[in-house]
Amino acid sequence: KPEVGVLALQGDFREHAAVLRELGAGVRLVRRPDDLDAVAGLVIPGGESSVMDKLARAFGLQEPLRAAIADGLPTYGTCAGLIMLAERVLDGIAGQQSLGALDVSVRRNAFGSQTASFEVDLDIPVLGDPPVHAVFIRAPIVVDTGERVTVLASLDDGRVVAVEQGNLLGTAFHPEVTHDYRFHRYFLDRVEDVAFRG
Ligand code: GLN
Repeated sequence: KPEVGVLALQGDFREHAAVLRELGAGVRLVRRPDDLDAVAGLVIPGGESSVMDKLARAFGLQEPLRAAIADGLPTYGTCAGLIMLAERVLDGIAGQQSLGALDVSVRRNAFGSQTASFEVDLDIPVLGDPPVHAVFIRAPIVVDTGERVTVLASLDDGRVVAVEQGNLLGTAFHPEVTHDYRFHRYFLDRVEDVAFRG
C-alpha cells in the first residue's frame, strides 16, 4: 500500500493524518525534502498559508514540493493548502508565495470577519448523495479558474469552493473536521490509481 504524505509544517496536519489512517492509508508527516521521495500522494492542510509558505521556504521545501507536484504527485490542499497550491493569491501578505500548481486565483479570507466561519451543505456531484456538510474557517474562495480546472463544488451564489486539475484537488473547506471522509477517499483513489499505473 503506498504511503501518503501530510505536509506537517503548520496547521491541522494531525487531523488529516488521522483521517487518512482511519481510511487505511499509511501516513508520513512531511517536514524535509527527502520525506517527499517516499510518498505517493500529499495532503497540504489548513492553517495559515503565509506562515506555511515561510516555513516551506525556510526548510528548503518549496522547490522540492514544486518539483514533486510538477512530476505528477497527487496533491490535495484544504483551505490554506488550497492557497499554497494556487498559481495566483489575492490578498496575500507582502511577499507571500505559493507553489503555483493549480491554475486558479484564490482570495484569502474571502468571507471577511463577520462571516469568517460557517457551515453549509454542498452538492458535490462526483461524491454523490448525500450532500457534503462543509465547514469553512476563515476560508479562501476561488475567484477564477483556468481551462484545465474542473469545478467540483460551488456555493448557492456561484462562488467556487472545490476544484480539480489533473492530480490536484483543492477545497476551501475542511472535510477533516467532520466525519464525512468522502473527499479523502476520492483523493486516495486517485493516489492508488497513479501509484499502480507506475
Ligand atoms: N485564512 C487562512 C490563510 O490565509 C486559511 C484558513 C484555514 O486554513 N482554515 O491561510
